Amino acid sequence: MTGVDAREAAELLRAATDVTLIAHVNPDADALGSALALGLGLHRRGVRVRVSFGAPREAPNSLRALDFEGLIVPVEEVPHAPELLVAVDCGSVDRLGGLADRVAAGGPVLVIDHHASNTRFGTHNLVDEHAEATVVLVLDVLDELGVVIDEPIARCLYAGLVTDTSSFRRARPRTHEIAARLLESGVDSDAVSRELMDTHSFAWLRMLSAVLGRAEFEPDAVGGLGWAHAVVRLSDMDGVRWEEVESVVDVVRTAAEAEVTSVLKQVAERRWSVSLRATSRVDVRMVANSLGGGGHRLAAGFTTDGSEQDVLAAIRAELRDPTLI
Ligand code: AMP
Ligand code: MN
Ligand code: MN
Repeated sequence: MTGVDAREAAELLRAATDVTLIAHVNPDADALGSALALGLGLHRRGVRVRVSFGAPREAPNSLRALDFEGLIVPVEEVPHAPELLVAVDCGSVDRLGGLADRVAAGGPVLVIDHHASNTRFGTHNLVDEHAEATVVLVLDVLDELGVVIDEPIARCLYAGLVTDTSSFRRARPRTHEIAARLLESGVDSDAVSRELMDTHSFAWLRMLSAVLGRAEFEPDAVGGLGWAHAVVRLSDMDGVRWEEVESVVDVVRTAAEAEVTSVLKQVAERRWSVSLRATSRVDVRMVANSLGGGGHRLAAGFTTDGSEQDVLAAIRAELRDPTLI
């Protein structure tokens, strides 16, 4: 449960000969970029390294190119009692899915994360909720380790930075400085952004059209600030990758009338992964917390069981909470 700084995290890593890096389930660019950047850096130092995540079986298409040295292994190749486990971009043990038991194994666990809801589940916790992305903390650790930030490592870090800051819209001056440093290492920002954010299958357009056609807007919700919601059903997802399903919220949340946006993504007949977004005034993390999830003030989520209408009703009820505004 100890809080550590980047120097102390680096000391822990420097002493290790075998490191297992794990990201949250359905890893995004910040999670996988963090694990792979740190993995590459440690690998260069002669450490035995593997990177994994609880689900799905394979990395999202758009992130596969970041695995420059084939560090990603399936869950069953993750040792049951790792010498040193590093969990990145993950606020709580349950976000590790099928790899949560590796934390319970009792060995040292270094948590590197930026979620305000982080439960400090590691034996060592490098947690800074003010960091815009976990990759920023990873860069600090790599610097402490004296690792040279070459283009592959920089590309992994940049991928996390550009996505978690919504293309630098939510980036402080220091974060732009970090981006400048990564670009100077040779990252092609246009190519990375296009690959990560602007490339979709045609099936995605069809899915989007169906989902947006059913989207609804409730102007009176959240004390009149407005709530837009959409639902992606399993039947909408044919030929569509999960990461493309996850990107639907970025379209729905552009509705000017809505302070709060939610997208329900069906994962099984009665199971839903829900994305919540706010424009500026509402703390959707509070909504997510109440419904068993977590996240950040303006971007949060939870996973729950029930019918589509049950889930919408649960969110609607939470949005009546007057302390949200
Ligand atoms: P997403 O809508 O999936 O992009 O998630 C937005 C943020 O909400 C993520 O960065 C996570 O911090 C958090 N989050 C999403 N789903 C969950 C969940 N099931 N449990 C806890 N936190 C979540
Ligand atoms: Mn993430
Ligand atoms: Mn993140």
